[in-house]
Amino acid sequence: MIKEHMDLTQEMLQDFLNTMPAVLYEYVLYADGTSELVYMSPTSLDILGHPAEYFIADTERLWAIVHPDDIDLLIAEDVNARNRQDVFVLQVRIILPSGQEKWVLINSKPTLRKKNNAFIWCGYITDISAQKSAELEVSLRIAELLESEKKLKKLNQTLEKLAVQDGMTGIANRRAFDTRLEYEWNRCQREKQPLSLIMIDVDFFKQYNDHYGHLAGDDCLKMIAKELSFITKRETDFCARFGGEEFVVLLPNTTLSPAIQLAEVYREKINQLGISHESSTASNYISISAGVSSSLPTDDETPLSLIDKADQALYQAKMNGRNRVENISFS
Ligand code: GH3
Ligand code: MG
Ligand code: MG
Repeated sequence: MIKEHMDLTQEMLQDFLNTMPAVLYEYVLYADGTSELVYMSPTSLDILGHPAEYFIADTERLWAIVHPDDIDLLIAEDVNARNRQDVFVLQVRIILPSGQEKWVLINSKPTLRKKNNAFIWCGYITDISAQKSAELEVSLRIAELLESEKKLKKLNQTLEKLAVQDGMTGIANRRAFDTRLEYEWNRCQREKQPLSLIMIDVDFFKQYNDHYGHLAGDDCLKMIAKELSFITKRETDFCARFGGEEFVVLLPNTTLSPAIQLAEVYREKINQLGISHESSTASNYISISAGVSSSLPTDDETPLSLIDKADQALYQAKMNGRNRVENISFS
């Protein structure tokens, strides 16, 4: 009865060692630096690619199968664990006889045998390549997601910029201007500050296109926009393309008189660009007319009235011969 029981236990243990998905081993490191593999389970062939006898014959072979990039880590952990005399758990890559890499997990505990100062390592090695490739897959997916999030953010920034920028001249567009006008109107009203607006229109621009071509017309508008932005230096002043060959400049905290002076600077500087305009009767060069309006914003008026008044002044400038500045003050 006892023998039967013992046979069964022996058989069970053998099955266990043959089939469990781990390589069990006992490794001894003697005080003189030599080592011995006392036991290694037969699963070594499946998991490490070599039969147990291969390693038992020469323990250096155990170290030799470790991936060169992971060997230093393994040596460091080996020393650490001996100092601590505690379990060491480490993931390393090994190279199989086929040359393929495989991730394994080593769990081992060193115990110092007092008698001969030898370290006994009892431990097991398991195959974690499936888990590692899943981890790798996840980190690749995360990297991909982060990358596309970055691209999306950049795209959004571009779209936001495009939404407020005039495509051709690169300065603010009508939409951005409308938003700014509303904002500054309310702010100046709250703070009881004047708000001025300059409406600018290129003189005889239809003739310019007809004479020099539409592309030259585009280039001319770009140069005008660049010059207007260059002159518009104050942080709160805002210059935009209103549409077609019309531009607009918003001047918060500015009364009529300095606004007229600034409009005069725009007129002069644009004319001084010296862009030939042979079919203009206002000047030999491209010129602008400007209408200036100024207001102390109140509830009785709307921001649109500021545009409307500047437009009326601009009309006057056109009527009075172009290449000039006219103004209207109200409220
Ligand atoms: P005025 O002095 O009375 O303002 O005369 P004008 O010829 O400038 O005015 P009009 O309104 O008759 O013509 C405006 C011209 O501006 C016609 C249009 O083709 C041109 N224009 C508007 N937008 C653009 C543009 O983006 N590029 C080019 N090249 N021309 C444009
Ligand atoms: Mg016009
Ligand atoms: Mg015009």
